[in-house]
Amino acid sequence: MKTLIIEDDQDIIDSISLAFRLYWPETEVIYANLGAAGIEMVRTEAPETVVLDLGLPDITGFEVLKQIRLFSSVPVIILTVRSQEEDVVRALEGEATDYLTKPFRQKELIARIQAHSTQWMTNEIRKSVKNMENPVS
Ligand code: CA
Repeated sequence: MKTLIIEDDQDIIDSISLAFRLYWPETEVIYANLGAAGIEMVRTEAPETVVLDLGLPDITGFEVLKQIRLFSSVPVIILTVRSQEEDVVRALEGEATDYLTKPFRQKELIARIQAHSTQWMTNEIRKSVKNMENPVS
C-alpha cells in the first residue's frame, strides 16, 4: 500500500507521517511539496490514495485534482484549513473522494484512507476480473 501526500506545510507532513507510523506502519508514504510534482508522482508511483492540500505554492489543489482525474480514479482526500461549505462542495464536485479540515484527528485520517483505498482496490480488481471474463477482441 502506497500513499502520496501533496502538501507544502512541513508540520502537516510530520503529523501525517506520525499518524501512519502509529496506526498503519506497513504503508509506504511518499511526498510532494508542489502540485505539479504531485500530479507527476500519481503517474509514476501509482499510489493507492492521495492526500491533497488545497493551498499549494504553485497551483491550487483544485487544479491538481482536475489534472489527476484526467488519467486516474485513485481516491483523493482533500486536507485543508478551509472549512467553508463552498470549498467542501467544490472539492466533492471536482471528484474528490473525501474531505478533512485541519487540524485533523490522526486516527480518523488513517481510518478514512484505509476505507477508501480498500474500496478502490476492490473495485479495480472487480473491473479487471470482468475484463478477463469479457475480453475485448
Ligand atoms: Ca498549504
